[in-house]
Amino acid sequence: MIGLTVLGSTGSIGISTLDVVARHPDRYRIVALTANRDVDGLYRQCLQFRPDYAVMAHRDAALSLEQRLKEAGSSINVLAGVEGLEHVASISDAHYVMAAIVGAAGLLPTLAAARAGKRVLLANKEALVVAGELFMQAVEQGGAEILPIDSEHNAVFQCMPADFSHGLDQVGVSRILLTASGGPFRTLSLDQLQDVTPDQACAHPNWDMGRKISVDSATMMNKGLEVIEACWLFHTTPDRIKVVLHPQSVIHSMVAYTDGSVLAQLGNPDMRTPIAHALAWPERIESGVAPLDLFDVARLDFEPPSLERFACLRLAYEAIEAGGTSPAILNAANEMAVDAFLSGKLRFTDIPGVIGSVLDTLPGEHGADLDTLLAIDESARRRAEQLIRNRV
Ligand code: NAD
Ligand code: MG
Repeated sequence: MIGLTVLGSTGSIGISTLDVVARHPDRYRIVALTANRDVDGLYRQCLQFRPDYAVMAHRDAALSLEQRLKEAGSSINVLAGVEGLEHVASISDAHYVMAAIVGAAGLLPTLAAARAGKRVLLANKEALVVAGELFMQAVEQGGAEILPIDSEHNAVFQCMPADFSHGLDQVGVSRILLTASGGPFRTLSLDQLQDVTPDQACAHPNWDMGRKISVDSATMMNKGLEVIEACWLFHTTPDRIKVVLHPQSVIHSMVAYTDGSVLAQLGNPDMRTPIAHALAWPERIESGVAPLDLFDVARLDFEPPSLERFACLRLAYEAIEAGGTSPAILNAANEMAVDAFLSGKLRFTDIPGVIGSVLDTLPGEHGADLDTLLAIDESARRRAEQLIRNRV
């Protein structure tokens, strides 16, 4: 039996992961489930999957979960805080760790899993954006194995030759073609974008996801973060990555080879496919996803993204270019701006303005260690908070 810790089990990726796991009870055993403060959600999952540990990031939520589990006669160990998350991410019983916490909050537990040499099923792209270099060092030193969950990166991984870590030139890969749906506002006029609401932004045409990544998809910051993620995962540079708008979300990404071949991975837009792929790799297991019906899809469209419409994508490219801590600043400012938009404190169209101003006022540094990165993340959040307050 393979022991699995699911970090962020009550979220969209966490729930899809448990759906796949439930189809293979003879193959996977849940060692730990974790959530931020959703006591009801984690309580229900604990009763169904009977993990050894349950962790709540918030201490008062942990106390209330512990109380409810005790009343239900359960002996599950309840832990709290980042230390609890790091513990279940590195514990020896957990062979695999699904990293599905949203945002930079996932960095420390995901790093703990990498240092402990786990198979890390990486959904938490922000961890790589904030600390890509340190993260990849931890993977190397810990002997961890990274299987990408992000659908594009999982598709690229499936289309890459096995020895891609030697460098793309060595294996005859010329380009990575990262597909993007363009989100729900791809065809709205720039004027119409002014008044879009959080619920409209979260109503993605093809994917059902958590609210933060849904807004990121609408601004296309998500694709910017994914370009950074792809650079680290596939040992390459942004000039080798081409973003292709593909509104149907059927081709999840492609790899172009020097001989003119282009390999693509297709499937219905359902995260259980990349999750099942990463759980079983190199084997294949049932995921619950319906087979792709190409007659139903009928057509596949492609177009280049506009950097005027999607200013967040442009900012992400600038942050990659600046390097060092700039992607961490970009990420922190984006998390704050998205949060403010979701709680009605910022217009959708003001999101890139806030991020751009934070990037302009905080100088990026090179060679930062983890403590410096965390401090920079914090200052970028405080700066974004001020800017958001001034805009209201
Ligand atoms: P979500 O908001 O649905 O779930 C997030 C999970 O993280 C929840 O379990 C929540 O309790 C937990 N969490 C939130 N804040 C936390 C904190 N401060 N400390 C500890 N735990 C915390 O998000 P999601 O859509 O499942 O996305 C998770 C990650 O996967 C993100 O990094 C996202 O970019 C990535 N991802 C998601 C999808 C998707 O289809 N949802 C696709 C590709 C990549
Ligand atoms: Mg993606």
